[in-house]
Amino acid sequence: MHFLLPFSLFFFILLLQLPSAFPARTFPQPTIPNFDATTASAFNSTTSTPWGNFAKFANLEKGSHVTGICDLKTYLNHFGYLPAPAPGNFSDDFDSDLESAILTYQRNLGIPVTGKLDNDTIDLIMAPRCGLGDSHMHNSTASRLHQTRRYAFFNGEPRWSQSSPMTLTYSFSPDDTIAYISQEDIRAVFARAFSRWSEVILVNFTEIQNYRMADIRIGFHSGDHGDGEPFDGELGVLAHAFSPENGRLHLDAAETWAVDFQRERSRVAIDLESVATHEIGHVLGLAHSSVSDAIMYPSLRPRSRKVDLRVDDVQGVQALYGSNPNFNYGSLLESDQETFNSGAGDGGRRTVFGLWIVVFTLTQLIYF
Ligand SMILES: [Zn+2]
Ligand SMILES: [Zn+2]
Repeated sequence: MHFLLPFSLFFFILLLQLPSAFPARTFPQPTIPNFDATTASAFNSTTSTPWGNFAKFANLEKGSHVTGICDLKTYLNHFGYLPAPAPGNFSDDFDSDLESAILTYQRNLGIPVTGKLDNDTIDLIMAPRCGLGDSHMHNSTASRLHQTRRYAFFNGEPRWSQSSPMTLTYSFSPDDTIAYISQEDIRAVFARAFSRWSEVILVNFTEIQNYRMADIRIGFHSGDHGDGEPFDGELGVLAHAFSPENGRLHLDAAETWAVDFQRERSRVAIDLESVATHEIGHVLGLAHSSVSDAIMYPSLRPRSRKVDLRVDDVQGVQALYGSNPNFNYGSLLESDQETFNSGAGDGGRRTVFGLWIVVFTLTQLIYF
């Protein structure tokens, strides 16, 4: 065995040299992606938006009683943080159930965990977001203890079941659409959004004309549109999609959708491509991620753009469909160093490998 000693020492020394290449996992920074203070404060003052009046709850904590806080409880119930009231309606008390829901929300969304309705929390609660709930999320506390992954799946981990390499068809509703963006532009936006996912997994997406026959059916809908998840007008919920193999992808027709912020100057404009890329993630089987830079993070600010898959998104979708052999992590890892450091990468596996080398080296040293 002694011939292994030089190799062990070599690996041990190599390991000591590698902190920058294999960084230790650090607790995620409580950053909010694409945050623009000017934009945010401008839209937060818009009390006519669905959650605009939540601003008055800023800085409340357990023990408070404020008229209307039942609406905040309804919000938290809708997104999976608070069980339904039994019986009757929610009260206006800031009780321990509300505090516990806020703690989970803060952990899931990666903001400071205070249990209070501090400014960060109220600001994020009021931000526009995806209509799907967050009940499947893996928050930073869970990942710190047992796992490095932060992406999540729906219950039962449903995925499309065609054999690989599979082709999924998509089509746009001929009736439920918007007139102020050309069909050509909308089709180009979705083609780009689909291609980002097909670059990393062996799934191709093809547009077809027959809407009813398509695997993925895309439409702009208003208010109650028959699937039990009514849209709520400008801002608030932006879009939703259904888990595999349902295929429905719905955008709220009441938003001011933008394909180019130079052309669309509205301060509440929402980037269509960012939302399309996120909702396609749901169509493929991903639930929400707590990595704030990830495509699958649930909220998106007006006039912000987030269209590039991050390591967390790629690992999640590849866990369902395998990797596209033409894809490599190289450039993604460089641009995604922060996400990687926060534990969304395979840092855990590298840490185990490093520990194994240390243990092996020590046993060799003891042996001699
Ligand atoms: Zn979503
Ligand atoms: Zn819908």
